[in-house]
Amino acid sequence: MKQILVISGKGGTGKTILTGAFAALVKNKVMVDCDVDAADLHLLLSPTVKERKDFRSGKTAFIDKNKCAQCRKCIELCRYEAISDDFIVDSIACEGCSFCSHVCPAEAIKMRENESGEWYISDTRFGPLVHARLGIAEENSGKLVSLVRQQAKELAEKQNCEYVIIDGPPGIGCPVIASLSGINCALVVTEPTLSGLHDAKRVIEVAQHFKVPVQLIINKYTLSLDMTKQIEDYCKEINIPVAGKIPFDRTIVEAMVEGKTVIENSNGNIKEIIKNIWSNMRKGDI
Ligand code: SF4
Ligand code: SF4
Repeated sequence: MKQILVISGKGGTGKTILTGAFAALVKNKVMVDCDVDAADLHLLLSPTVKERKDFRSGKTAFIDKNKCAQCRKCIELCRYEAISDDFIVDSIACEGCSFCSHVCPAEAIKMRENESGEWYISDTRFGPLVHARLGIAEENSGKLVSLVRQQAKELAEKQNCEYVIIDGPPGIGCPVIASLSGINCALVVTEPTLSGLHDAKRVIEVAQHFKVPVQLIINKYTLSLDMTKQIEDYCKEINIPVAGKIPFDRTIVEAMVEGKTVIENSNGNIKEIIKNIWSNMRKGDI
């Protein structure tokens, strides 16, 4: 079983459109949405949730007013000023350090696990999808990414799937690092702009640091043939294959608006290009 990760140095490069296209194209796989802060693969795959589980992470202090002796020690010692004068903990300000629970002479403070989000196993018209939702202002997205990936891997093994195809988080932060472990190929999607090249370079460096094989896709390449050439030259220089280039095409946008993948709802040329991208990527020992 091979794990393919689609990533980009920043959001909005067409990463999810490409992942959705692979969902329609590739048989015998489990799809995963690891962009847990702003999940959107479900908009293209219209999943039916079969299993729903809570994601718990981090802790928040809770004061039992029946036990509290109102000595104010916790208020004075909390360096995040998370405890109010009427002995209530502000769950946003509390960093979960547990210090107050250790200094409270009345043992009135308990640490409670946060319900930080949910994760799901769903059915879609293209097979199973494992995805998640992180609560507003919640942290630990890297931990949720690892959890979702582990669930997808177990499901793929159980169903004897050939691939796990992952819509990765944008950027180069903790969730991206959590997405990269054990990946057979990271497909970096970029656009032909200076910032696109800059962001692609950063994410390629992160992937290479973790020794993950990288290939690159240039989306909307017809918008700047000069920048496309610069990106191709850069890839040649660092020995990264360009698995394909996708032109700007209105039918891609139209498919997205209709909640369809580009394999279902775009012109034949785009479908052929995506098929070639998949087969080029597999030539790279995937
Ligand atoms: S340290 Fe304990 S007893 Fe003192 S005010 Fe805080 S919760 Fe109440
Ligand atoms: S757990 Fe830490 S941050 Fe939260 S209220 Fe207690 S001392 Fe403050």
